[in-house]
Amino acid sequence: MADETRFYEIEPSRENYWRAIILFGRNVASYKFALAKALYDMRHHPNELIRMDELAPVFAKHIADHLIKCDKQATSSKSRFLDLCRAFNKGEITEATLSEQTVRLGFQNVIDAFHNVHGNEVPTRFFVDERNEKSGIRLTDDFFSLSENPTIHDLNIETEARWRLVETAWDLNVSRHVVQISHDDTNKLLHTVTAENRRVTITSSRDALNGYQKGRCFYCFRNITVDSQSFDLADVDHFFPYKLRFCAVNKPINGVANLVLACKECNRGTYGKFDRIPKLHLVDRLHRRNEYLIKSHHPLRETLMLQTGISEPDRRSFLQSAYNCSKTTIISDWAPSACGSAVF
Ligand SMILES: [Zn+2]
Repeated sequence: MADETRFYEIEPSRENYWRAIILFGRNVASYKFALAKALYDMRHHPNELIRMDELAPVFAKHIADHLIKCDKQATSSKSRFLDLCRAFNKGEITEATLSEQTVRLGFQNVIDAFHNVHGNEVPTRFFVDERNEKSGIRLTDDFFSLSENPTIHDLNIETEARWRLVETAWDLNVSRHVVQISHDDTNKLLHTVTAENRRVTITSSRDALNGYQKGRCFYCFRNITVDSQSFDLADVDHFFPYKLRFCAVNKPINGVANLVLACKECNRGTYGKFDRIPKLHLVDRLHRRNEYLIKSHHPLRETLMLQTGISEPDRRSFLQSAYNCSKTTIISDWAPSACGSAVF
């Protein structure tokens, strides 16, 4: 199994192809996220064919809304389409003009590139490009099946979280400042600090991490969710207990590299983990999960590399040394009973 495609080959499902599209690969603009969110909004569309003039206002609205939060929505500095969205936000052009111009300028590359991950197209298509024949895109049965799955809401939340991470990284990277992501334990939010030492809140750590675990508990693979109203809302857990944070050589085992999402049973249930050390095979699993974060590029890649090592072997031995050190401090270790097959 190739390293690059392992994420979806290990459990080839529509949800995981969708997640691969959103989480992995390099982006030069945020249009893929806007398209994913527009498709979510239009999932009850009565026809399979969505005309570009129907898609344009929904797509452009997402971009315009994000420009208000973060003015950097592409790596290149000039974009006529983004300027139009900015003009719309200032009330200088109408929604109708924005939509019309979005049909002309807003979809360059994004329709073609949407299904590409690591240079290849994923095997499942969620729409087919029929712009030449029908002035639109045709939603596929795979899209409709995906949209009927309850996880579609989590997928949409994950898209928003990924978008926030990417745009924040672009925004702060202008002065070649390396964007490091930190976690706030109190409110379960990811944040970063600008070159001027200003703290910026980015997104919920649950929303940002759920996709890399395919919506499953890190330990037992039970289904979890990021829906705050649900009983199955994920707990954010420190893999190595918090009190061990200075165990690893020179670097604390803290931050995103040590954060996983767990079900309540594993984290604090009758047979839960609490302050014990997960068994060694779970350290391997954490390493694999962290490599998924690395492959999703900006800005988690930089964060993980700074915290745990530049090369893959370095990162592996960092976790191993943290484990060895932990064992000298805490004697009892812990493993869950599996509640599902190993999918990551
Ligand atoms: Zn669990």
